[in-house]
Amino acid sequence: MDGAADGAGVVGSVDAGAQKERVVTEEEWLQKWEAGKTGFHKEQGHPLLQKYLDILLNGRRGLRIFFPLCGKAVEMKWLADMGHRVVGVEISEKALKEFFTQNGLPYREEPVPGTVGAKVLQSVSGNISLYCCSIYDLSSAIVGKFDGVWDRGALVAVNPCDRQCYASLMISLMEKSSSYLLVTVLYDPNKHKGPPFYVPESEVKSLFGNQCEIKCLQKANEFTDAHREWGLDYFLEVLSVWSYAGLP
Ligand code: SAH
Repeated sequence: MDGAADGAGVVGSVDAGAQKERVVTEEEWLQKWEAGKTGFHKEQGHPLLQKYLDILLNGRRGLRIFFPLCGKAVEMKWLADMGHRVVGVEISEKALKEFFTQNGLPYREEPVPGTVGAKVLQSVSGNISLYCCSIYDLSSAIVGKFDGVWDRGALVAVNPCDRQCYASLMISLMEKSSSYLLVTVLYDPNKHKGPPFYVPESEVKSLFGNQCEIKCLQKANEFTDAHREWGLDYFLEVLSVWSYAGLP
């Protein structure tokens, strides 16, 4: 299914329209964190990760899991507590510091060699490393490659004009046979400017689909009063998974 839908089913196909040109600057994101306008943060973590964790892990232990545009997502602690190594990236230092302090985790800060202005905040236990810089400053030479990715509030927060660059970077950070869980959102993009941005399934396929087969695991009706206030009349979250088989 592509385009628009409500809880009951498909209601039509939608063009991303005005959103294609929209740009949210890093400064605007930092201001959101300073002003506490972080309605995207889920204090209890994301139920879809809980539900589909087995698909991400696929019976494997001691994985390296990447959280792009991580905010202060509590799911990072869930995975670290299960014995996995977690790496995140986020431009807001405030978000990262709140992650460690709110979860009672002592941390230390270190510069990132070769990346001016970037630093990494690392739990003293060593299994959570959060890079404070733009994701576009990272490469596999800096962070290595990953066995799994939890992409929630990440592709949908990337400026539409940067999606291709983001997807190529993410593919370059994947180990062979890694699993990528992706949450996208569907709503009428002519009624709300985003973020989160509307990302149709056809676009997910064109961004990632050449490397893999993408499977939709669930579509969840997540419509709330906040979405009604944005002027929307439906809002769906779509969870997809793809497994990277490696470049031919
Ligand atoms: N994934 C998190 C946060 C989603 S909101 C969650 O599920 O709660 C998107 C986050 O991306 C914001 O915290 C914002 O500060 C951060 N961000 C935006 N552009 C970024 C960039 N280029 N590099 C790293 N982080 C970025």
